[in-house]
Amino acid sequence: MRDTTSTGGNPLLERKGIPAFDRIRPEHVVPGVRATLGEVAALLERLEAELEPSWDGLVKRLEELSFPLEYAWNPVQHFMLVKNSDELRKAHQEVLPEVVETHLRVKQSRPVYEGLVALREGDAWESLDEAQRRVVEIAIRDARHAGVGLTGESRERFVEIERELSKLGSDFQNHLLDATKAFELVVSDPADTKGWPESLRALAAQSYNQAHAEEAKNAGRPEATAERGPWRITLDFPSYRPFMEHSRRRDQREAVYRAMITRASGGEFDNNGIIERVLELRREKAELLGLPTYAELSLEEKMAPSVEAVEKMYDELFVACRPKAEQDLEDLATLAREGGQSEPLALWDTLFWAERLRERRFEYTEAELRPYFPMPKVLEGLFRLAERLFDVRILERKGAAPVWNEDVQYFEVLDREGKPVASFYLDAYSRPAEKQGGAWAGECFSRRRRIDGELITPVEFVNCNGTPPVGSKPSLMGFEEVKTLFHEFGHALQGMLTKVDYADVAGTNGIEWDAIEIASQFMENWCYHRPTLKGFSSHYETGEPLPDELFEKIVRAKTYRMGSLILRQMRFGKTDMALHHAYQPGGSGTARDVDRKVSESMSVLPLLPEDQFLCSFAHIFAGGYAAGYYSYLWSEVLSADAFAAFEEAGLEDAAAVRALGRKFRDTFLALGGGADPMEVFRRFRGREPSTAAFLRHNDLVES
Ligand code: ZN
Repeated sequence: MRDTTSTGGNPLLERKGIPAFDRIRPEHVVPGVRATLGEVAALLERLEAELEPSWDGLVKRLEELSFPLEYAWNPVQHFMLVKNSDELRKAHQEVLPEVVETHLRVKQSRPVYEGLVALREGDAWESLDEAQRRVVEIAIRDARHAGVGLTGESRERFVEIERELSKLGSDFQNHLLDATKAFELVVSDPADTKGWPESLRALAAQSYNQAHAEEAKNAGRPEATAERGPWRITLDFPSYRPFMEHSRRRDQREAVYRAMITRASGGEFDNNGIIERVLELRREKAELLGLPTYAELSLEEKMAPSVEAVEKMYDELFVACRPKAEQDLEDLATLAREGGQSEPLALWDTLFWAERLRERRFEYTEAELRPYFPMPKVLEGLFRLAERLFDVRILERKGAAPVWNEDVQYFEVLDREGKPVASFYLDAYSRPAEKQGGAWAGECFSRRRRIDGELITPVEFVNCNGTPPVGSKPSLMGFEEVKTLFHEFGHALQGMLTKVDYADVAGTNGIEWDAIEIASQFMENWCYHRPTLKGFSSHYETGEPLPDELFEKIVRAKTYRMGSLILRQMRFGKTDMALHHAYQPGGSGTARDVDRKVSESMSVLPLLPEDQFLCSFAHIFAGGYAAGYYSYLWSEVLSADAFAAFEEAGLEDAAAVRALGRKFRDTFLALGGGADPMEVFRRFRGREPSTAAFLRHNDLVES
């Protein structure tokens, strides 16, 4: 442990207790992070020279490497989100490549890799516990997938492939951005904006000014305004979606829709060639690593046991969703006819009529709900729920830890004996000038037992963007915000209630990607449980709980058009899997043929022949979702199934809920990444996952 005299007054170099959030400044970042990286590099070098293939002689020392960075780097990343400034951004940018480089050096160290493999194959392996084995297995897997196990020509080829793939990914993204930018629809006649929400009018006028300021000025025209226009519609989602939902000009909707589905599919921004090349290289990469397809490579890092298991989930969902989606379409067609549309329902009509139907069936606005959800009540409800389920106490500790803003609160989590097991910061209010929007959870410290035996307990960050209270009026939350808070707190709980002492698999660390949302989505479910929701809703003026009528609307809105929405997700997920598994790049067919074939069964309303959706499928061609798009549905199915255990036991049976809550704590939350996720699921549920609860929750089964 360093004392503060050797830190040169730089709080990022102090390693005792909680980081000095009240003293960290942008000027500390470059020297603090650099000094720490130097230290880590030296430790790694020594480790490489001296390592022994044993837990203490290798893994424990490897784990120690990440500790100094939790002090020096985690606060910097956190401040980028909650205390941003030009100076901080500059400093962050300066050291970021060095941080990435150091992480890669550790992950791709050949001596470390060989030591880990020797440990796994040696006699000591038998004496390691489940979580220790996971640490080793995951480290070996990640190193192998980074090509560390390859030598000679295959190693060189691997590096080449990675380099080309990374370039192709950014080319794909750039084409997509440029193609998106190249389209606009300018609406100048105010009559054509009839029915638009005010927010769309404002956004579109602003967009017009951004794109055409110069030319308007030269022509002596005034600036566009929300009331007077002109309005500019683009293919960016915040513009596209409300336009398609509200524009009554059918021909304009058609033009925008056609532009959307052919983005980046021709001319100078054509992504078709990139798609084929990416698929070819990914296949080659998988083969170099000894796997037949890229999907198999991706699934080695995931919970889903096989491509077949993913297909099985899709098949079960398909049978339930298809008839519902057909019914959804019929409802829209009927409404369109009643609404005076003489032409048959087309692809550019569905969002428009779906929005009309939603308004008719259960229109409510977030503004209507807000008065019932004052933030202090919601937080209290959330904390009491966590206490009830998981047998912990959550207490605010004012002044017990340094804060970066005076509104930030600090809480401790105590176990049933009153012993602190974790703590978290709540940064509740929005500060647009320096804080990112939305809600999210992050980690300051993972739980870990240090080499000298000291136990570091987890410290989490929970962030939201509530309106700060004004006078006696508290911060009021919309329902979506409430749900997101529960979700993020679920992630934080998994970080805090872990029992694992090895940082690499403690809490959410090391959890497979398709299993990481289980605990968070599980918590969301409670927002649809009437007594729970009503229990913490309280009108800030009258104290009334949320009226039943509004609760019913929220519940019905949740499952609205769910069959159609899931089918759409399935189209993307099945195409993704087919392209990375069965599809043979360079063979007789094209990727587009695969997409078309999948779409035939997944789209209730046939797609246009010119549909080129793949050219804008950035999730899999420029993001991290390749052969992993299914994860969204997979984790929802699992979290629904986990919650169903509570429903089966009886949500009103307090003793049963308590007992199951303990079980959830002791499995999902306590084990985290320290056990195989399928095994964790089985230990909680006593069986394999099933799609039944997901289908029921989404109103996809005939009752
Ligand atoms: Zn999440």
